[in-house]
Amino acid sequence: METNYISTVVQIEWKTPIVFELIIDRNGIEFQPGDSISIFSADESQSRPYSIASGTKETGIRFLIQKLPGGELSNWLASLQPGDKIFHSKPYGWFRPGQNINGEPFIFIATGTGIAPFLSYMRAFPEKPPGYCLYGVKKVCDALELELLRSQCEVKLAVSRENGHQHHCGRVTDFLAEVKLRSDLHFYLCGLDAMIDEVSDSLEKKGVDFAKIHREVFFYAPS
Ligand SMILES: Cc1cc2nc3c(=O)[nH]c(=O)nc-3n(C[C@H](O)[C@H](O)[C@H](O)COP(=O)(O)OP(=O)(O)OC[C@H]3O[C@@H](n4cnc5c(N)ncnc54)[C@H](O)[C@@H]3O)c2cc1C
Repeated sequence: METNYISTVVQIEWKTPIVFELIIDRNGIEFQPGDSISIFSADESQSRPYSIASGTKETGIRFLIQKLPGGELSNWLASLQPGDKIFHSKPYGWFRPGQNINGEPFIFIATGTGIAPFLSYMRAFPEKPPGYCLYGVKKVCDALELELLRSQCEVKLAVSRENGHQHHCGRVTDFLAEVKLRSDLHFYLCGLDAMIDEVSDSLEKKGVDFAKIHREVFFYAPS
């Protein structure tokens, strides 16, 4: 991966105890919702991709980053201050939420920071919301930008470690197992590999054509 840009950190804001929003200056960069940018470590020896969470017309570029225990890049990024410089690639990607052909209806399914590309889409195309957004989190307070999501579309929260009447108790796969799905829907999935694989299996078992399951995997856990 090539370092193409040096950008300035504009803001770091903690959204939950373990997820922060990093905003860098726009630097004239063009991107499409679904694109990622690879951010380099200070010595440029390593890079990690992060999905852009901002709309295409904003003055900064936002990322939602989970600080992982022992995670090299995420811990370093969490320690940055406004004014610091970061090296990164140009935007790239092939995941294109909501941009399936023929204008067929679609829904978004995300867990954790996997909501980032869908936030980018909703900020960029508020006039073309998904049928609904199914969002999996451990606790309600882990849900990122819930107010914004709810202002754009119906949000179905699947909460795995907290009981309540306002949300589905369980994982996104449990939710999908219980609902009837229209066969013309496109499904856009973003999150960790285990969720993506489980949801894809569950959708296929319900008769969804694999061509209508669009996937962005954030991380492959070592087997
Ligand atoms: C296309 C793409 C887009 C991505 N977008 C985002 C994003 O928007 N926000 C975001 O937070 N992350 C995103 N990621 C994940 C990100 O690239 C890094 O993998 C993550 O930040 C960990 O990097 P690290 O250097 O902190 O951890 P590392 O030093 O690489 O790993 C530390 C430990 O955490 C484990 N680990 C690594 N990544 C994850 C993970 N994502 N979840 C759980 N455990 C993990 C490793 O096995 C290791 O044990 C994306 C990944 C891809 C492929």
